[in-house]
Amino acid sequence: MRAMLLETPRQPLRAVDLPVPKPGPAQVLVKVAACAVCRTDLHVVDGELPNPQLPLVPGHEIVGVIVERGRGVQRFKSDDRVGIPWLGWTCGECEFCRGGRENLCDRARYTGYTLDGGYAEFAVADERFCFPIPDFYSDAEAAPLLCAGLIGYRSLAKTGDAKRLGIYGFGAAAHIVAQVARFQGREIFAFTRQGDLAAQAFARSLGAVWAGDSEDPPPVKLDAAIIFAPVGDLVPLALKAVVRGGTVVCGGIHMSDIPSFSYNLLWEERTLCSVANLTRRDGREFFALAPRVPVRTTVQEFPLAEANEAIVRLRAGKLQGAAVLVP
Ligand SMILES: [Zn+2]
Ligand SMILES: [Zn+2]
Repeated sequence: MRAMLLETPRQPLRAVDLPVPKPGPAQVLVKVAACAVCRTDLHVVDGELPNPQLPLVPGHEIVGVIVERGRGVQRFKSDDRVGIPWLGWTCGECEFCRGGRENLCDRARYTGYTLDGGYAEFAVADERFCFPIPDFYSDAEAAPLLCAGLIGYRSLAKTGDAKRLGIYGFGAAAHIVAQVARFQGREIFAFTRQGDLAAQAFARSLGAVWAGDSEDPPPVKLDAAIIFAPVGDLVPLALKAVVRGGTVVCGGIHMSDIPSFSYNLLWEERTLCSVANLTRRDGREFFALAPRVPVRTTVQEFPLAEANEAIVRLRAGKLQGAAVLVP
């Protein structure tokens, strides 16, 4: 099968031919129809996350059809369409797993990071961590739901019932969260890179009541903010933008250092927290909700062989919505 392989961090991916993997017990072999490109893939490729499996097939927002089932597979049949997310395996035994927080599992394995992912024609996955994909979505439209959607949903949940919601970084996750938040009756304030008028217009087209530069204060105080951009400088800005008792959620897996800031910004019971990974429960809830909103995704398709180009464009902020690789 054709695959795009990360051999050395900070080098472009290399197009290679690999043997089609064999599904092990409880695993399914999926013929990949679409795999979205996530900012986390950039952090993996750039060597910003420790100890990736190498060589590695990146990609953790995979949609495809089951073509072979390993021993003991029960949930899915051949020809079923499934999504394969970032959370690829958990131990089921540690304190976190037993407490409903498998996203923090001591021994978790992650698709496209410590397990091979979907920048390839085929991928294997543990069926217990796959999701059925609602018929409502095409393959390419569904792919960004698997991380941008799920992590966005988990980040949004952390903001409680905040009515006025700031979103810093208006990329793939934000464009999905904005639709869910609006559906829930919230107001969206979108913050982008300075002068990124295209992203600001995109945010307004998705119902944002205000869109501006991340250095600008919003016209009113916000009840909560989510930071998707991997920029630590945004943390004090977001804290400054929220009301007393407000919450700031960092939704990314990696962020540049947060500058020191006056305790005044955190005082008065403001909360600063992060979101890590996902649980299968997040997935069940989100995939039930998404077609009801309905969440529509904006995608830009690239052939698998152009994965490096998709990565370059994402890094430069030159994508609207999500890049999706189509083998
Ligand atoms: Zn565990
Ligand atoms: Zn991701």
